[in-house]
Amino acid sequence: MTMDLGTFHQSFPDEESCMIHFKEKRLSSGLCCSGCKGKDFRFQKGKQRFFCKNCNKSISLKSGTVMENSNLTFKSWLYCMKYMTMTKKGVSTKEMQRLLGFKRYEPVWYMMHKLRAVMGKRDDLYTLSQNIEIDEGFFESTDKKTQGTVNDDSNKSEKEKRGRGSSRQAKVLVMVESKEVPQANKKYKNKTNKNVGFLKMKLMDNLTIESINSKVETNVEKQTEVTSDGYRGYNKLEEVIKKHLVIIEPDKSKSAKLFPWVNRTISNAKKVLLGNHHNVIDKKYIQNYLNEFCYKFNRRYFEDKITDRLILASLNSTWY
Ligand SMILES: [Zn+2]
Repeated sequence: MTMDLGTFHQSFPDEESCMIHFKEKRLSSGLCCSGCKGKDFRFQKGKQRFFCKNCNKSISLKSGTVMENSNLTFKSWLYCMKYMTMTKKGVSTKEMQRLLGFKRYEPVWYMMHKLRAVMGKRDDLYTLSQNIEIDEGFFESTDKKTQGTVNDDSNKSEKEKRGRGSSRQAKVLVMVESKEVPQANKKYKNKTNKNVGFLKMKLMDNLTIESINSKVETNVEKQTEVTSDGYRGYNKLEEVIKKHLVIIEPDKSKSAKLFPWVNRTISNAKKVLLGNHHNVIDKKYIQNYLNEFCYKFNRRYFEDKITDRLILASLNSTWY
């Protein structure tokens, strides 16, 4: 499904065309009968169910997908996936509510968060390799658990704040593949001689050595070279990766060049999150918003095939 928005609207004008699209995608992703392991099905539109041609056992189109237990129409789901993936910045829940013509905000909010969770699960299938930049980002958020006990960090030095972060800020570990190339990449401002690959952003409870190492171990190949600054949380990274390079550069403009991709992705993620969610985000949901940002970043060359990939991921029955 490679198409602009006009063609998309023409191809999926109603509920039936959207349902049929999900049906075809689900069949193409390899549906298997739980009774006899058969792979041939007929589909009954009225019942929205597949029937096994061998034993007649049925499977509902929504069961085992992100749409399971949802009363929303197939059209709402398909259009939501299209609108979420069609721009880098994404759309706010309010905007989506307007685009989909919903009276209520909540169902749209839930649908979008379910899709962000799918994006995270899909990206969790990858691990980062080769050369990686690692750093922490601090995102403005509220924490309903500790509300009213916000610490005043204004008198603390940058380093002190960083050790534990402010209670208003969500701590995020950012890991990004960044490989040195012989010639600076002229596509970007502040030309860098590093090419960017896959990106991961993970919400952290804290930034201790143990937490950082455990997160790196899960998300990064053992045979990786990791570059970080001198923060003590990275002191034992070599226990979980091949090589750890530490670059200590107090001058911020210089360090931005040494770590071009963590710096750039953190600042872009902050812009996107702030742009779409003017009210500060509850810490509980930050990971979901980061999932969406990373999912799109990691598929930045997919153009509009990204919608198709999200549809396939949302039908992956092993996740629900
Ligand atoms: Zn069967």
